[in-house]
Amino acid sequence: MRRELLAGQLRELLPADAVIATPEALRPYAGDALTAYRQLPCVAVLPETVEQVQAVLHWCSEHQVPVVPRGAGTGLSGGALPHESGVLLVLARLDRILEIDPHRRLARLQPGVRNLAISEAAAPFGLYYAPDPSSQIACSIGGNVAENSGGVHCLKYGLTVHNLLAVRMLTMDGELLEIGTDGLDAPGLDLLALVTGSEGLLGVVVEVTVRLLPAPERVQVLMAGFDSVVAAADAVSAVIANGVLPAGMEMMDRLAIQAAEDFVHAGYPRDAAALLLCELDGADREVDAQASQVSALLRQAGATSLEVAEAPEQRARLWAGRKAAFPAVGRLAPDYYCMDGTIPRHRLAEVLTRIGELSETHGLPVANVFHAGDGNLHPLVLYDANRDQELARAEALGARILELCVEVGGTITGEHGVGHEKLDQMCVQFGSIELECFHRLKAAFDPAGLLNPGKAVPTLARCSELGGMHVHQGKLPHPELERF
Ligand SMILES: Cc1cc2nc3c(=O)[nH]c(=O)nc-3n(C[C@H](O)[C@H](O)[C@H](O)COP(=O)(O)OP(=O)(O)OC[C@H]3O[C@@H](n4cnc5c(N)ncnc54)[C@H](O)[C@@H]3O)c2cc1C
Repeated sequence: MRRELLAGQLRELLPADAVIATPEALRPYAGDALTAYRQLPCVAVLPETVEQVQAVLHWCSEHQVPVVPRGAGTGLSGGALPHESGVLLVLARLDRILEIDPHRRLARLQPGVRNLAISEAAAPFGLYYAPDPSSQIACSIGGNVAENSGGVHCLKYGLTVHNLLAVRMLTMDGELLEIGTDGLDAPGLDLLALVTGSEGLLGVVVEVTVRLLPAPERVQVLMAGFDSVVAAADAVSAVIANGVLPAGMEMMDRLAIQAAEDFVHAGYPRDAAALLLCELDGADREVDAQASQVSALLRQAGATSLEVAEAPEQRARLWAGRKAAFPAVGRLAPDYYCMDGTIPRHRLAEVLTRIGELSETHGLPVANVFHAGDGNLHPLVLYDANRDQELARAEALGARILELCVEVGGTITGEHGVGHEKLDQMCVQFGSIELECFHRLKAAFDPAGLLNPGKAVPTLARCSELGGMHVHQGKLPHPELERF
Protein backbone atom coordinates (compact mmCIF):
# COMPACT_ATOMS: atom_id res chain seq x y z
CA MET A 1 0.00 0.00 0.00
CA ARG A 2 2.74 2.45 1.04
CA ARG A 3 4.70 1.38 -2.04
CA GLU A 4 1.80 2.24 -4.37
CA LEU A 5 1.16 5.57 -2.69
CA LEU A 6 4.81 6.56 -2.73
CA ALA A 7 5.31 5.48 -6.35
CA GLY A 8 2.21 7.45 -7.39
CA GLN A 9 3.55 10.64 -5.81
CA LEU A 10 7.02 10.20 -7.30
CA ARG A 11 5.58 9.56 -10.79
CA GLU A 12 4.27 13.11 -10.69
CA LEU A 13 7.86 14.36 -10.40
CA LEU A 14 9.65 11.98 -12.76
CA PRO A 15 9.27 10.30 -16.18
CA ALA A 16 7.16 7.11 -15.94
CA ASP A 17 10.11 4.75 -16.54
CA ALA A 18 12.13 6.44 -13.78
CA VAL A 19 10.06 4.98 -10.93
CA ILE A 20 10.40 1.28 -10.05
CA ALA A 21 7.89 -0.15 -7.63
CA THR A 22 7.30 -3.87 -8.19
CA PRO A 23 9.18 -6.40 -6.02
CA GLU A 24 10.52 -8.26 -9.10
CA ALA A 25 11.88 -5.09 -10.70
CA LEU A 26 13.28 -3.87 -7.37
CA ARG A 27 15.22 -7.08 -6.70
CA PRO A 28 18.45 -6.01 -8.54
CA TYR A 29 18.55 -2.94 -6.28
CA ALA A 30 18.23 -4.88 -3.02
CA GLY A 31 21.88 -4.47 -2.05
CA ASP A 32 25.42 -3.75 -3.18
CA ALA A 33 28.44 -6.00 -3.67
CA LEU A 34 28.33 -7.02 0.01
CA THR A 35 25.83 -9.68 -0.94
CA ALA A 36 25.25 -11.04 2.57
CA TYR A 37 22.76 -8.21 3.23
CA ARG A 38 19.65 -7.66 1.09
CA GLN A 39 16.66 -5.40 1.58
CA LEU A 40 14.10 -4.33 -1.03
CA PRO A 41 13.56 -0.56 -1.07
CA CYS A 42 9.99 0.67 -0.93
CA VAL A 43 10.53 2.41 -4.29
CA ALA A 44 13.59 3.05 -6.50
CA VAL A 45 13.89 6.13 -8.69
CA LEU A 46 16.28 6.78 -11.58
CA PRO A 47 16.24 10.52 -12.30
CA GLU A 48 17.94 11.90 -15.41
CA THR A 49 18.51 15.52 -14.42
CA VAL A 50 19.72 17.43 -11.38
CA GLU A 51 16.33 19.15 -11.21
CA GLN A 52 14.63 15.75 -10.93
CA VAL A 53 16.99 14.73 -8.10
CA GLN A 54 16.21 18.01 -6.41
CA ALA A 55 12.46 17.47 -6.77
CA VAL A 56 12.69 13.96 -5.27
CA LEU A 57 14.74 15.17 -2.30
CA HIS A 58 12.47 18.12 -1.69
CA TRP A 59 9.37 15.93 -1.76
CA CYS A 60 10.92 13.25 0.50
CA SER A 61 12.11 15.88 2.94
CA GLU A 62 8.63 17.42 3.18
CA HIS A 63 7.03 14.01 3.72
CA GLN A 64 9.75 12.63 6.02
CA VAL A 65 10.64 9.74 3.69
CA PRO A 66 14.16 8.26 4.09
CA VAL A 67 16.41 8.39 0.99
CA VAL A 68 19.38 6.13 0.21
CA PRO A 69 21.64 7.35 -2.62
CA ARG A 70 23.09 4.70 -4.93
CA GLY A 71 25.70 4.90 -7.69
CA ALA A 72 26.61 1.64 -9.43
CA GLY A 73 26.03 -0.58 -6.38
CA THR A 74 29.60 -1.96 -6.28
CA GLY A 75 30.16 -0.86 -2.67
CA LEU A 76 31.52 -3.53 -0.31
CA SER A 77 30.19 -2.29 3.04
CA GLY A 78 26.43 -2.16 2.42
CA GLY A 79 26.43 1.64 2.10
CA ALA A 80 23.75 1.57 -0.59
CA LEU A 81 21.65 -1.05 1.23
CA PRO A 82 18.07 0.23 0.79
CA HIS A 83 15.75 1.35 3.56
CA GLU A 84 12.59 -0.77 3.64
CA SER A 85 10.23 2.18 3.82
CA GLY A 86 12.38 4.61 1.87
CA VAL A 87 13.33 5.69 -1.63
CA LEU A 88 16.46 4.34 -3.29
CA LEU A 89 17.84 7.27 -5.31
CA VAL A 90 19.85 5.76 -8.19
CA LEU A 91 22.23 8.26 -9.83
CA ALA A 92 23.30 5.97 -12.70
CA ARG A 93 21.43 7.90 -15.41
CA LEU A 94 23.31 11.11 -14.65
CA ASP A 95 26.28 9.81 -16.59
CA ARG A 96 27.49 12.67 -18.79
CA ILE A 97 31.08 13.87 -18.96
CA LEU A 98 30.38 17.61 -18.87
CA GLU A 99 33.89 18.88 -19.65
CA ILE A 100 37.47 17.75 -20.14
CA ASP A 101 39.73 20.80 -19.92
CA PRO A 102 43.30 19.88 -20.92
CA HIS A 103 44.60 23.38 -20.13
CA ARG A 104 43.37 23.44 -16.54
CA ARG A 105 43.85 19.64 -16.40
CA LEU A 106 40.45 18.88 -14.97
CA ALA A 107 37.28 16.95 -15.74
CA ARG A 108 33.75 17.99 -14.78
CA LEU A 109 31.44 15.00 -14.43
CA GLN A 110 27.95 13.95 -13.53
CA PRO A 111 27.95 11.50 -10.58
CA GLY A 112 27.00 8.42 -12.61
CA VAL A 113 30.10 8.56 -14.85
CA ARG A 114 32.12 5.34 -14.51
CA ASN A 115 35.61 5.77 -13.03
CA LEU A 116 37.36 4.19 -16.03
CA ALA A 117 35.40 6.37 -18.49
CA ILE A 118 37.19 9.46 -17.09
CA SER A 119 40.65 8.21 -18.07
CA GLU A 120 39.31 6.97 -21.41
CA ALA A 121 37.92 10.43 -22.19
CA ALA A 122 41.13 12.17 -21.00
CA ALA A 123 43.52 9.85 -22.91
CA PRO A 124 43.41 11.76 -26.23
CA PHE A 125 44.87 14.76 -24.33
CA GLY A 126 47.67 12.67 -22.77
CA LEU A 127 45.94 12.86 -19.37
CA TYR A 128 44.36 10.40 -16.93
CA TYR A 129 42.50 10.22 -13.61
CA ALA A 130 44.75 8.54 -11.02
CA PRO A 131 42.46 6.85 -8.40
CA ASP A 132 41.70 3.47 -9.90
CA PRO A 133 39.59 1.08 -7.79
CA SER A 134 39.69 -2.48 -9.09
CA SER A 135 35.98 -2.02 -9.76
CA GLN A 136 36.73 0.96 -12.04
CA ILE A 137 35.03 -0.57 -15.05
CA ALA A 138 31.69 -0.27 -13.20
CA CYS A 139 31.83 2.01 -10.15
CA SER A 140 30.67 5.62 -10.41
CA ILE A 141 32.58 8.80 -9.56
CA GLY A 142 29.71 9.80 -7.22
CA GLY A 143 30.20 6.53 -5.32
CA ASN A 144 34.00 7.11 -5.35
CA VAL A 145 33.50 10.52 -3.70
CA ALA A 146 31.05 9.10 -1.16
CA GLU A 147 33.48 6.30 -0.23
CA ASN A 148 36.75 8.24 -0.73
CA SER A 149 37.81 5.33 -2.90
CA GLY A 150 41.35 4.23 -3.49
CA GLY A 151 43.09 1.85 -5.86
CA VAL A 152 46.46 0.56 -7.01
CA HIS A 153 47.86 4.01 -7.83
CA CYS A 154 46.84 5.69 -4.58
CA LEU A 155 50.20 4.90 -2.97
CA LYS A 156 51.82 7.63 -5.08
CA TYR A 157 48.87 9.73 -6.23
CA GLY A 158 46.50 9.65 -3.24
CA LEU A 159 42.88 8.68 -2.69
CA THR A 160 39.82 10.35 -4.24
CA VAL A 161 40.07 13.22 -1.73
CA HIS A 162 43.53 14.13 -3.02
CA ASN A 163 42.36 14.29 -6.62
CA LEU A 164 39.10 16.12 -6.11
CA LEU A 165 38.68 19.84 -6.81
CA ALA A 166 34.99 20.54 -6.31
CA VAL A 167 31.55 18.99 -5.91
CA ARG A 168 28.01 20.25 -6.28
CA MET A 169 25.84 18.58 -3.69
CA LEU A 170 22.14 18.65 -2.85
CA THR A 171 21.14 18.62 0.79
CA MET A 172 18.24 16.45 1.95
CA ASP A 173 15.82 19.33 1.44
CA GLY A 174 17.08 19.95 -2.09
CA GLU A 175 19.36 22.96 -1.51
CA LEU A 176 22.35 23.11 -3.87
CA LEU A 177 25.80 23.50 -2.23
CA GLU A 178 28.87 24.45 -4.29
CA ILE A 179 31.92 23.09 -2.48
CA GLY A 180 35.57 23.57 -3.50
CA THR A 181 37.14 25.37 -6.45
CA ASP A 182 39.66 24.50 -9.12
CA GLY A 183 42.20 26.68 -7.31
CA LEU A 184 44.77 25.34 -4.86
CA ASP A 185 43.02 26.52 -1.73
CA ALA A 186 39.57 27.76 -0.82
CA PRO A 187 38.52 30.03 2.03
CA GLY A 188 36.32 28.74 4.83
CA LEU A 189 36.23 25.34 6.45
CA ASP A 190 37.25 22.42 4.25
CA LEU A 191 33.81 21.04 3.44
CA LEU A 192 35.23 19.18 0.44
CA ALA A 193 37.28 16.94 2.70
CA LEU A 194 34.28 16.50 5.00
CA VAL A 195 31.96 15.48 2.18
CA THR A 196 34.51 13.06 0.68
CA GLY A 197 33.97 9.71 2.34
CA SER A 198 30.69 10.82 3.95
CA GLU A 199 28.91 7.73 2.52
CA GLY A 200 25.75 9.50 1.35
CA LEU A 201 24.97 10.78 4.86
CA LEU A 202 25.40 14.51 4.28
CA GLY A 203 24.06 15.14 0.78
CA VAL A 204 23.65 13.82 -2.75
CA VAL A 205 26.59 14.59 -5.04
CA VAL A 206 25.30 15.77 -8.42
CA GLU A 207 28.52 17.03 -10.02
CA VAL A 208 32.19 16.28 -9.46
CA THR A 209 35.31 18.12 -10.69
CA VAL A 210 38.51 16.07 -10.58
CA ARG A 211 42.16 16.79 -11.27
CA LEU A 212 43.72 15.05 -14.29
CA LEU A 213 47.40 14.11 -14.43
CA PRO A 214 49.74 13.85 -17.42
CA ALA A 215 50.30 10.22 -18.44
CA PRO A 216 53.83 9.22 -17.32
CA GLU A 217 56.60 9.03 -19.93
CA ARG A 218 57.43 5.47 -18.98
CA VAL A 219 55.94 2.66 -16.87
CA GLN A 220 57.47 -0.63 -15.70
CA VAL A 221 55.96 -3.39 -13.61
CA LEU A 222 58.13 -5.71 -11.54
CA MET A 223 56.66 -9.00 -10.38
CA ALA A 224 58.48 -10.83 -7.57
CA GLY A 225 57.64 -14.21 -6.04
CA PHE A 226 58.54 -15.06 -2.42
CA ASP A 227 58.54 -18.28 -0.44
CA SER A 228 57.00 -16.63 2.61
CA VAL A 229 54.43 -13.92 3.24
CA VAL A 230 56.71 -12.44 5.87
CA ALA A 231 59.59 -12.01 3.36
CA ALA A 232 57.26 -10.30 0.85
CA ALA A 233 55.86 -7.98 3.54
CA ASP A 234 59.37 -7.05 4.65
CA ALA A 235 60.30 -6.35 1.02
CA VAL A 236 57.48 -3.77 0.80
CA SER A 237 58.86 -1.88 3.80
CA ALA A 238 62.42 -2.14 2.46
CA VAL A 239 61.51 -0.58 -0.92
CA ILE A 240 59.73 2.40 0.62
CA ALA A 241 62.26 2.85 3.43
CA ASN A 242 64.96 3.16 0.75
CA GLY A 243 63.30 6.23 -0.71
CA VAL A 244 61.44 4.72 -3.69
CA LEU A 245 57.77 5.62 -4.00
CA PRO A 246 56.26 3.17 -6.50
CA ALA A 247 53.06 4.15 -8.34
CA GLY A 248 51.56 0.99 -6.84
CA MET A 249 52.70 -1.93 -4.73
CA GLU A 250 50.30 -4.83 -4.46
CA MET A 251 50.60 -8.17 -2.70
CA MET A 252 48.81 -11.52 -3.06
CA ASP A 253 49.18 -14.68 -0.97
CA ARG A 254 49.23 -18.26 -2.25
CA LEU A 255 45.48 -18.79 -2.28
CA ALA A 256 44.93 -15.54 -4.20
CA ILE A 257 47.84 -16.19 -6.61
CA GLN A 258 46.52 -19.62 -7.54
CA ALA A 259 42.92 -18.43 -7.90
CA ALA A 260 43.95 -15.50 -10.13
CA GLU A 261 46.28 -17.66 -12.20
CA ASP A 262 43.60 -20.31 -12.77
CA PHE A 263 41.12 -17.57 -13.73
CA VAL A 264 43.09 -15.24 -16.06
CA HIS A 265 46.42 -17.05 -16.75
CA ALA A 266 48.51 -13.99 -15.97
CA GLY A 267 51.75 -16.00 -15.74
CA TYR A 268 51.99 -15.84 -11.93
CA PRO A 269 54.35 -18.26 -10.10
CA ARG A 270 51.76 -20.76 -8.79
CA ASP A 271 54.17 -22.24 -6.23
CA ALA A 272 55.06 -18.89 -4.58
CA ALA A 273 53.76 -18.21 -1.08
CA ALA A 274 53.44 -14.51 -1.89
CA LEU A 275 53.64 -12.23 -4.89
CA LEU A 276 54.49 -8.55 -5.17
CA LEU A 277 53.56 -6.37 -8.12
CA CYS A 278 55.45 -3.10 -8.08
CA GLU A 279 54.71 -0.42 -10.67
CA LEU A 280 57.26 2.33 -11.30
CA ASP A 281 56.42 5.36 -13.40
CA GLY A 282 57.99 8.67 -14.33
CA ALA A 283 60.66 10.03 -16.65
CA ASP A 284 62.75 7.56 -18.64
CA ARG A 285 65.98 7.77 -16.63
CA GLU A 286 64.19 7.90 -13.28
CA VAL A 287 62.31 4.65 -14.02
CA ASP A 288 65.53 2.98 -15.18
CA ALA A 289 67.36 3.91 -11.99
CA GLN A 290 64.45 2.92 -9.74
CA ALA A 291 63.95 -0.42 -11.53
CA SER A 292 67.59 -1.42 -10.82
CA GLN A 293 67.34 -0.27 -7.20
CA VAL A 294 64.00 -2.05 -6.58
CA SER A 295 65.18 -5.27 -8.30
CA ALA A 296 68.22 -5.33 -6.00
CA LEU A 297 66.08 -4.68 -2.91
CA LEU A 298 63.59 -7.41 -3.84
CA ARG A 299 66.42 -9.90 -4.35
CA GLN A 300 68.01 -8.93 -1.04
CA ALA A 301 64.63 -9.46 0.64
CA GLY A 302 64.58 -13.02 -0.69
CA ALA A 303 62.63 -12.87 -3.98
CA THR A 304 62.62 -16.34 -5.54
CA SER A 305 61.54 -15.06 -8.97
CA LEU A 306 61.60 -11.66 -10.66
CA GLU A 307 60.02 -10.53 -13.93
CA VAL A 308 60.16 -7.02 -15.38
CA ALA A 309 57.34 -6.02 -17.74
CA GLU A 310 57.56 -2.91 -19.89
CA ALA A 311 55.48 -3.52 -23.03
CA PRO A 312 51.87 -2.39 -22.46
CA GLU A 313 50.43 -5.85 -23.19
CA GLN A 314 52.90 -7.50 -20.80
CA ARG A 315 51.98 -5.02 -18.03
CA ALA A 316 48.28 -5.44 -18.73
CA ARG A 317 48.69 -9.22 -18.38
CA LEU A 318 50.33 -8.90 -14.95
CA TRP A 319 47.70 -6.44 -13.72
CA ALA A 320 44.83 -8.51 -15.14
CA GLY A 321 45.38 -11.16 -12.45
CA ARG A 322 45.39 -8.60 -9.64
CA LYS A 323 42.36 -6.71 -10.97
CA ALA A 324 40.39 -9.95 -11.32
CA ALA A 325 41.53 -11.35 -7.97
CA PHE A 326 38.21 -10.81 -6.14
CA PRO A 327 36.07 -12.63 -8.71
CA ALA A 328 38.85 -15.24 -9.04
CA VAL A 329 38.77 -15.94 -5.30
CA GLY A 330 34.97 -15.97 -5.59
CA ARG A 331 35.34 -19.19 -7.62
CA LEU A 332 36.93 -20.99 -4.65
CA ALA A 333 33.86 -21.01 -2.41
CA PRO A 334 30.14 -20.26 -2.71
CA ASP A 335 30.62 -16.95 -0.85
CA TYR A 336 33.41 -14.62 0.20
CA TYR A 337 33.47 -11.76 2.65
CA CYS A 338 35.90 -8.98 1.72
CA MET A 339 37.37 -7.12 4.67
CA ASP A 340 39.07 -3.73 4.41
CA GLY A 341 41.38 -2.51 7.16
CA THR A 342 44.53 -0.45 7.22
CA ILE A 343 47.63 -0.99 9.31
CA PRO A 344 51.01 0.73 9.64
CA ARG A 345 53.11 -0.72 6.81
CA HIS A 346 55.89 -1.94 9.11
CA ARG A 347 53.41 -4.24 10.93
CA LEU A 348 52.41 -6.09 7.70
CA ALA A 349 54.36 -9.28 8.34
CA GLU A 350 53.11 -9.63 11.92
CA VAL A 351 49.47 -8.92 11.03
CA LEU A 352 49.42 -11.32 8.07
CA THR A 353 50.80 -14.05 10.34
CA ARG A 354 48.10 -13.35 12.91
CA ILE A 355 45.38 -13.37 10.22
CA GLY A 356 46.65 -16.85 9.23
CA GLU A 357 46.27 -17.98 12.86
CA LEU A 358 42.77 -16.46 13.15
CA SER A 359 41.78 -18.23 9.92
CA GLU A 360 42.81 -21.56 11.51
CA THR A 361 41.04 -20.99 14.82
CA HIS A 362 37.81 -19.90 13.06
CA GLY A 363 38.05 -22.81 10.60
CA LEU A 364 37.59 -20.63 7.49
CA PRO A 365 40.17 -20.06 4.73
CA VAL A 366 41.33 -16.48 4.09
CA ALA A 367 42.90 -15.25 0.84
CA ASN A 368 44.88 -12.00 0.97
CA VAL A 369 45.13 -9.60 -1.97
CA PHE A 370 45.80 -6.01 -1.12
CA HIS A 371 47.38 -2.57 -1.50
CA ALA A 372 50.56 -3.47 0.39
CA GLY A 373 52.30 -0.12 -0.08
CA ASP A 374 49.44 1.64 1.73
CA GLY A 375 49.13 -1.06 4.40
CA ASN A 376 45.53 -1.46 3.18
CA LEU A 377 44.54 -5.10 3.74
CA HIS A 378 41.74 -6.95 1.95
CA PRO A 379 41.44 -10.37 3.62
CA LEU A 380 38.81 -12.38 1.72
CA VAL A 381 37.09 -14.83 4.09
CA LEU A 382 35.74 -17.85 2.21
CA TYR A 383 32.49 -19.38 3.46
CA ASP A 384 29.24 -21.03 2.42
CA ALA A 385 26.12 -19.11 3.49
CA ASN A 386 24.04 -22.27 3.04
CA ARG A 387 25.94 -24.03 5.80
CA ASP A 388 24.63 -23.56 9.29
CA GLN A 389 26.25 -20.62 11.10
CA GLU A 390 28.99 -20.13 8.49
CA LEU A 391 28.00 -16.53 7.72
CA ALA A 392 28.04 -15.77 11.46
CA ARG A 393 31.51 -17.37 11.73
CA ALA A 394 32.76 -15.36 8.74
CA GLU A 395 31.44 -12.16 10.33
CA ALA A 396 33.08 -13.02 13.65
CA LEU A 397 36.41 -13.69 11.94
CA GLY A 398 36.09 -10.45 9.95
CA ALA A 399 35.37 -8.48 13.12
CA ARG A 400 38.43 -10.00 14.83
CA ILE A 401 40.62 -9.02 11.87
CA LEU A 402 39.39 -5.41 12.02
CA GLU A 403 39.95 -5.27 15.76
CA LEU A 404 43.47 -6.53 15.14
CA CYS A 405 43.99 -3.62 12.71
CA VAL A 406 42.96 -1.15 15.44
CA GLU A 407 45.16 -2.96 17.98
CA VAL A 408 48.30 -2.37 15.90
CA GLY A 409 47.49 1.31 15.33
CA GLY A 410 45.46 1.01 12.12
CA THR A 411 41.86 1.59 11.10
CA ILE A 412 38.75 -0.46 10.36
CA THR A 413 38.49 0.82 6.81
CA GLY A 414 40.97 1.79 4.15
CA GLU A 415 38.69 2.57 1.23
CA HIS A 416 35.43 0.60 1.37
CA GLY A 417 33.72 2.70 4.04
CA VAL A 418 31.75 1.69 7.12
CA GLY A 419 28.29 1.44 5.60
CA HIS A 420 25.98 -1.03 7.28
CA GLU A 421 28.75 -3.56 7.80
CA LYS A 422 31.19 -2.00 10.24
CA LEU A 423 28.94 -0.08 12.63
CA ASP A 424 30.03 -2.23 15.57
CA GLN A 425 33.72 -1.82 14.77
CA MET A 426 33.24 1.98 14.80
CA CYS A 427 32.62 1.51 18.53
CA VAL A 428 36.07 -0.06 18.78
CA GLN A 429 37.77 2.61 16.71
CA PHE A 430 36.23 5.72 18.24
CA GLY A 431 35.26 7.03 21.64
CA SER A 432 31.98 8.70 22.52
CA ILE A 433 33.32 12.21 21.96
CA GLU A 434 34.33 11.59 18.34
CA LEU A 435 31.09 9.72 17.63
CA GLU A 436 29.07 12.58 18.99
CA CYS A 437 30.97 15.04 16.76
CA PHE A 438 30.01 12.87 13.79
CA HIS A 439 26.34 12.95 14.84
CA ARG A 440 26.45 16.74 15.19
CA LEU A 441 27.98 17.14 11.74
CA LYS A 442 25.31 14.86 10.27
CA ALA A 443 22.60 16.93 11.98
CA ALA A 444 24.06 20.17 10.57
CA PHE A 445 23.41 18.88 7.03
CA ASP A 446 20.40 16.64 7.62
CA PRO A 447 18.66 17.52 10.91
CA ALA A 448 15.83 15.03 10.43
CA GLY A 449 18.27 12.18 9.74
CA LEU A 450 16.53 11.12 6.52
CA LEU A 451 19.57 10.62 4.31
CA ASN A 452 21.00 7.09 4.36
CA PRO A 453 19.81 6.52 7.95
CA GLY A 454 21.47 3.92 10.14
CA LYS A 455 24.74 3.83 8.18
CA ALA A 456 28.38 4.71 8.86
CA VAL A 457 28.03 6.18 12.38
CA PRO A 458 26.64 4.01 15.20
CA THR A 459 24.45 5.50 17.91
CA LEU A 460 26.09 5.84 21.30
CA ALA A 461 23.39 3.48 22.60
CA ARG A 462 24.51 0.78 20.17
CA CYS A 463 28.13 1.09 21.29
CA SER A 464 27.07 1.07 24.90
CA GLU A 465 24.98 -2.08 24.42
CA LEU A 466 27.95 -3.79 22.85
CA GLY A 467 29.75 -3.07 26.09
CA GLY A 468 32.51 -1.66 23.97
CA MET A 469 32.10 2.06 24.56
CA HIS A 470 35.69 2.92 24.46
CA VAL A 471 36.80 6.17 26.03
CA HIS A 472 40.33 6.99 24.94
CA GLN A 473 42.84 7.31 27.74
CA GLY A 474 43.40 10.85 28.86
CA LYS A 475 39.96 12.00 27.78
CA LEU A 476 37.32 13.11 30.19
CA PRO A 477 34.25 10.89 30.43
CA HIS A 478 31.57 12.42 28.24
CA PRO A 479 28.27 13.55 29.82
CA GLU A 480 26.36 11.64 27.10
CA LEU A 481 27.65 8.42 28.65
CA GLU A 482 25.77 9.16 31.82
CA ARG A 483 22.51 8.53 30.00
CA PHE A 484 23.32 4.90 29.22
C1 LIG B 1 35.40 -6.40 -7.37
C2 LIG B 1 35.44 -5.12 -6.58
C3 LIG B 1 36.65 -4.46 -6.42
C4 LIG B 1 36.71 -3.27 -5.69
N1 LIG B 1 37.92 -2.64 -5.59
C5 LIG B 1 37.98 -1.46 -4.93
C6 LIG B 1 39.24 -0.77 -4.82
O1 LIG B 1 40.28 -1.20 -5.33
N2 LIG B 1 39.24 0.39 -4.14
C7 LIG B 1 38.11 0.92 -3.58
O2 LIG B 1 38.17 1.99 -2.97
N3 LIG B 1 36.91 0.29 -3.66
C8 LIG B 1 36.82 -0.88 -4.32
N4 LIG B 1 35.61 -1.52 -4.42
C9 LIG B 1 34.44 -0.96 -3.72
C10 LIG B 1 33.54 -0.02 -4.57
O3 LIG B 1 33.70 -0.27 -5.96
C11 LIG B 1 33.81 1.46 -4.26
O4 LIG B 1 33.44 1.72 -2.92
C12 LIG B 1 33.06 2.42 -5.18
O5 LIG B 1 33.48 3.75 -4.94
C13 LIG B 1 31.54 2.38 -5.03
O6 LIG B 1 30.98 3.13 -6.09
P1 LIG B 1 29.48 2.87 -6.56
O7 LIG B 1 29.18 3.83 -7.63
O8 LIG B 1 29.28 1.46 -6.91
O9 LIG B 1 28.71 3.26 -5.23
P2 LIG B 1 27.51 2.49 -4.48
O10 LIG B 1 27.94 1.14 -4.07
O11 LIG B 1 26.28 2.59 -5.28
O12 LIG B 1 27.38 3.42 -3.19
C14 LIG B 1 28.42 3.49 -2.25
C15 LIG B 1 28.10 4.57 -1.21
O13 LIG B 1 28.09 5.84 -1.82
C16 LIG B 1 26.84 6.50 -1.65
N5 LIG B 1 26.62 7.22 -2.92
C17 LIG B 1 26.68 6.71 -4.17
N6 LIG B 1 26.50 7.70 -5.05
C18 LIG B 1 26.33 8.84 -4.37
C19 LIG B 1 26.12 10.20 -4.73
N7 LIG B 1 26.05 10.60 -5.98
N8 LIG B 1 25.97 11.12 -3.72
C20 LIG B 1 26.05 10.76 -2.42
N9 LIG B 1 26.26 9.49 -2.03
C21 LIG B 1 26.40 8.55 -2.99
C22 LIG B 1 25.85 5.39 -1.34
O14 LIG B 1 24.79 5.86 -0.53
C23 LIG B 1 26.72 4.41 -0.58
O15 LIG B 1 26.81 4.81 0.77
C24 LIG B 1 35.53 -2.73 -5.12
C25 LIG B 1 34.31 -3.39 -5.31
C26 LIG B 1 34.26 -4.56 -6.01
C27 LIG B 1 32.93 -5.24 -6.19
